Amino acid sequence: MASPSMALAKSNPTTRLIAGRLALDFANTASSSHDLSWEDFVTFLTDARVVTPERATRLRTLLASEPLAVDAVLTRILHLRGSLLSIFSSIVQKRGFTKSLIEPINQILRITEGHDELVQQGESWRLNYMAREQGLEWLLAAIARSAAELLVEGPDVPLRRCANSKCRLFFYDDSRTRRRRWCSMATCGNRHKVAAFLGRKAKRTNTVQTASRH
Ligand SMILES: [Zn+2]
Repeated sequence: MASPSMALAKSNPTTRLIAGRLALDFANTASSSHDLSWEDFVTFLTDARVVTPERATRLRTLLASEPLAVDAVLTRILHLRGSLLSIFSSIVQKRGFTKSLIEPINQILRITEGHDELVQQGESWRLNYMAREQGLEWLLAAIARSAAELLVEGPDVPLRRCANSKCRLFFYDDSRTRRRRWCSMATCGNRHKVAAFLGRKAKRTNTVQTASRH
């Protein structure tokens, strides 16, 4: 029998971080076919650089040593993700959302204290939220904070979903024209270009055939 960790590694090799905002990337983890496991969540935090690989290794062992604490925080994680999905969908559709959806974000903000720290990113600097590491809720602090920052941008926040109906990942559109349509050009954008090209080619072939018959 394959070990659970092997099965998980197969089902979730890497996290696709395409959204440009942590809270959106976190909401996008809902697009995978299986429920978010502790392993998935720790992998997400590592890929998103919320925790270091060393910290991740320690967090993974909690599943065996503190299963109840892990279970409790997983419930919170899924609750937060559910709320974020509803809120972000409403924003994309220019609809309002019920105030109660905000509560899971506020709950995390309330119980986690932290501060901002400057972190170098290539040539530039960005502000990274560092949560005070207490309990396990702090793991959600940066996500809650990122969601809150999106919300205070107001109804015109450039939040979009990939135009590929089979994808629908959320992303923050900070392109110059603010008309980005795809989660990434390399995947959905190119797939669309190829499909459009084949569509035009098929149409042309049909036209040629029709013309030659006359
Ligand atoms: Zn896409």
